[in-house]
Amino acid sequence: VAPAPLLAVENLRAWYGHSHILQGLSLEVRAGEIVTLVGRNGAGKTTTLKSIMGLVPKREGRVTFAGADILDRPPHERFHRGLAYVPEERRIVPGLTVEENLRLGILAAKGPWAAKGDRATKGERASRHHEARRIEAIAETFPRLKQRLKQEAITMSGGEQQMLAIARALMAEPVMVLLDEPSEGIMPILVEEMFEQFVAMKRAGTTILLVEQNVELALEISDRVYIIDGGAVVYHAQAAELRRDPEIQARYCAV
Ligand code: ATP
Repeated sequence: VAPAPLLAVENLRAWYGHSHILQGLSLEVRAGEIVTLVGRNGAGKTTTLKSIMGLVPKREGRVTFAGADILDRPPHERFHRGLAYVPEERRIVPGLTVEENLRLGILAAKGPWAAKGDRATKGERASRHHEARRIEAIAETFPRLKQRLKQEAITMSGGEQQMLAIARALMAEPVMVLLDEPSEGIMPILVEEMFEQFVAMKRAGTTILLVEQNVELALEISDRVYIIDGGAVVYHAQAAELRRDPEIQARYCAV
């Protein structure tokens, strides 16, 4: 018997106001997989990620994560269960360094102890130690950020900022990350580096659900793929299978 999927989306329907965007979408992600969602602009990929994170106001259907029904749970509870979301707009905090931006990722998970200075309790000092260790680990995984820890984050290139946004999400050691078009507007050399990092994240045990326009590259690193059109899944397969099918790619993946 196959193990239960880590994430199961069943017959998901979602609305923005009166616009009915997701029309009964179903997909599964198993622990340890990289799964990619592809489809034309406006197909509903971002809305799918937002619904999984609880950021779309009206939704129906069923979303289970790690065995719990989360459809009606607030976003912060999904975060505490191990789901992280990196939106297309990176939301780097201006005025903060790379390291400070990274700290925000763990602050969100642990509470506002970091601002307390010398009045920190023993538990708080242990948390700070943990934070420092996480920053070290992240710096090893993202050498580009390691060189720039003290740099003001907003002065980095778009690609470096995107890596920071991803690294920040990893600070809290999520079980699964939802990545929305991470390669958007980034120079090709950095895109390749970023995709290598996704493979490293997978190797380290993180499950990834990726929305990506760069279909060719995404298929190279993905286990499975879903094509979304008109707010529903129209095709799903092993990534290798779609790679061999240019006709399907041309039909659904053209921007
Ligand atoms: P893209 O690659 O262009 O981001 P997508 O597949 O991610 O495409 P979504 O962003 O999920 O598509 O959008 C799906 C549909 O929902 C589109 O028709 C879009 O105009 C609409 N939509 C998205 N966000 C909102 C919103 N906040 N209010 C109203 N309609 C929205």
